[in-house]
Amino acid sequence: MGNADGREPRGNRGEGSIPDPLNRPYTIVNMAMSADGKISSVERGQVKISGAEDRGRVDRLKAGSDAVMVGIGTVLADNPSLTVKSESLRKDRILAGKAENPVRIVVDSNGRTPLTADILRRGEGKRIIAVSERAGKEAMARFQGLAMVIVTGQGEVDLSLLMTQLHELGIGRLMVEGGGTLIASLFAQGLVDEFYTFVGNLIVGGADAPTPVDGRGFLNDNDFVRLSLMDVGEVGEGVLLRWRVKNRR
Ligand code: NAP
Repeated sequence: MGNADGREPRGNRGEGSIPDPLNRPYTIVNMAMSADGKISSVERGQVKISGAEDRGRVDRLKAGSDAVMVGIGTVLADNPSLTVKSESLRKDRILAGKAENPVRIVVDSNGRTPLTADILRRGEGKRIIAVSERAGKEAMARFQGLAMVIVTGQGEVDLSLLMTQLHELGIGRLMVEGGGTLIASLFAQGLVDEFYTFVGNLIVGGADAPTPVDGRGFLNDNDFVRLSLMDVGEVGEGVLLRWRVKNRR
């Protein structure tokens, strides 16, 4: 596997070996957080944490992925398009026989993604809305012509089943861009292979401000997710940490 951002890491302690067979996408979570570990303010709106250099790295990571996933909370808070921003990276993808943008996926049990959301409207390429059985039929009709709808799980989306289906659709490398609720569930189910955090040069504060991994949290020593450091380096005015997950499925 190549380096995630196309550059040689500093102090590399070895890339993750891909378990074989892995019947789900190889999954990389990438987040930007403040120096005090927040991914947004208590108001949960978008906070500018990284600079141009890190945004370039994220764009390269995205362009090298088959798909990019977010939770509905992130769509409603930030309205991201999740497109590849660099024209030359988009051209490279086309030259390689791929779509201009990776497949864009929203984990959205109730099919609440607004029909006007940038993720549905901006840029070429496939979209997938993953819903639960609660919203299945209605969602199929609602997103017709805009996105493929995958139905898994009863109350919330069954992430393990979703991952298997994504793998069957040919998605080998998945980037997850948040938020903390979705990432907590992915970790809880052992579905994350690598975890990257860009740590920016600001303090956001607030006990209730979201963090990269929210959810209910883990309580026991056996349940904590264990990581090994792949590399660390300065990016712009911040630091990028890249970890490999030890106890994944
Ligand atoms: P989120 O993680 O984006 O989405 C969570 C939602 O996904 C759940 O509330 C649930 O809503 C749905 N979902 C469906 N099945 C699920 C499952 N099995 N496990 C978990 N979630 C499931 O939302 P969030 O935690 O509120 O995060 C949004 C915040 O993160 C915003 O403040 C945003 O600005 C910030 N953010 C920051 C960064 C960064 O890098 N700094 C990146 C992304 C987001 P339903 O029940 O309706 O399906």
